[in-house]
Amino acid sequence: MDDKKIIIIGGGLVGSLLGLILAKRGIKISVYESRPDMRKSNISAGKSINLALSHRGLAALEKVGLKDSILQHAVKMKSRIIHPVHGDKIILPYGTREGEYINSISRKKLNEILMDELELIQPNCIRFNTRLVETDNKSKSFTFDIGNGEKLIEKNCRIFGTDGAFSATREYLLSQSSTIKFNYSQTFQNYGYKELNLEPDELGQFQLENNGLHIWPRGHFMMIALPNPDASFTCTLFAPYKGKDGFEQLISKSNVENYFTEHFPDITPKFNDLADQFFENPIGNLVTVKCHPWHIHDETLLLGDAAHAIIPFYGQGMNCGFEDVFVLDKLMDEKSSWTDIFESFTEARKINSDAIADLAEDNFIEMRDKVGDEIFQKKRKLEVDLEIKHQNYYSKYALVTFRPDISYHEAMVRGRRQDEILMNLCAVKNEVDLDTTYKLMCEEGLIN
Ligand SMILES: Cc1cc2nc3c(=O)[nH]c(=O)nc-3n(C[C@H](O)[C@H](O)[C@H](O)COP(=O)(O)OP(=O)(O)OC[C@H]3O[C@@H](n4cnc5c(N)ncnc54)[C@H](O)[C@@H]3O)c2cc1C
Repeated sequence: MDDKKIIIIGGGLVGSLLGLILAKRGIKISVYESRPDMRKSNISAGKSINLALSHRGLAALEKVGLKDSILQHAVKMKSRIIHPVHGDKIILPYGTREGEYINSISRKKLNEILMDELELIQPNCIRFNTRLVETDNKSKSFTFDIGNGEKLIEKNCRIFGTDGAFSATREYLLSQSSTIKFNYSQTFQNYGYKELNLEPDELGQFQLENNGLHIWPRGHFMMIALPNPDASFTCTLFAPYKGKDGFEQLISKSNVENYFTEHFPDITPKFNDLADQFFENPIGNLVTVKCHPWHIHDETLLLGDAAHAIIPFYGQGMNCGFEDVFVLDKLMDEKSSWTDIFESFTEARKINSDAIADLAEDNFIEMRDKVGDEIFQKKRKLEVDLEIKHQNYYSKYALVTFRPDISYHEAMVRGRRQDEILMNLCAVKNEVDLDTTYKLMCEEGLIN
């Protein structure tokens, strides 16, 4: 392959992992990251404080030899722990087989480890405070703001755009939309999110069970909480911007306290500074981005959120971005030109990122609305019983989360059909026979 300069725009989770994969192949790279070095300054790593890391992401981390060391910084989440407004909590295990749990990991820690590993191989290859601000498709130039009014111009380079949901690299593809037939859509949810920190108790212990992902489903809104290694939890309220129970109504400290006491009575007394945090922390937006193609010839390629930002309700955005890198690495073994690699990459990944985007939308409704529903809980119990009795039955959640060998698209098609069958059975029967259900699944070709 040629010796064009390779630039990765964006040193977030996907850009840092991509850098590492390329560096391990002996390919020289430069990463241009708009923010300061998070390892040296106390800046937010952006978006959510912690993330659910699961098997697809872990497969990519294993490839760079980091799976075990990263998992040392994670907290295992084995179940969904549902908090009704009144009454007992309900525990719904994520999986039934060995190793079927998800991992709560700090975004900052994960990004720092990836950057450290990358710079062990190529010292100082990440250039911070370097923001892509302008592109020109005629001269194929990319202009970066490097501070103090100075600019850096790069021309005729091979560009990997991993600059996130609001990617400036994507603008370069958009500027050539009629030539490359670039399709693009960006859809904001009517929902935003706010993160709140639940401190450890006075003995330094977790204030909730630390082995699960907590959910307070409330119909048209919900709160979740993920544990952190320091015994705190990061709680995230997802609520509509406007209307009933929406953010726009929460304008005073007493509004906030009353809202939490009414809807989340079990956790509200555990916060020391709920209302203060509520007004200090920003409301984040939730956006889905779909576009196609993700590449121009062998020059520019988008990966991660820059190519396919999704809403976070399957906990798969980063996992999907890491899987992008995994697939790209595989294609680099199989193909001999960048053109083939980029084309095959778009072809292989687009259908799958569309599938997980759609599944994430389904799961938002499931999490906020259905996990509290009796038929849903019956169906979930049936799935667990089926998985225990027939180990080669995988629920939709397990297919998406624990089976990187099955594509997101296949997981979606199979999982939706399974759900349909099980929900119908649970709606009409008090007792559902496991063997008959399993046989039905086999006949429909849903088991392999
Ligand atoms: C509330 C919330 C919860 C989530 N939870 C999960 C979860 O549990 N599990 C999961 O798998 N995913 C989750 N996600 C999704 C996950 O955060 C993203 O999919 C992931 O961060 C994508 O990584 P990325 O590297 O592509 O983009 P980003 O993480 O956005 O990184 C982009 C990088 O590019 C830099 N950059 C941006 N613009 C420029 C520019 N012009 N020039 C140079 N650099 C630039 C940024 O500073 C940043 O470092 C969640 C998302 C949200 C919003």
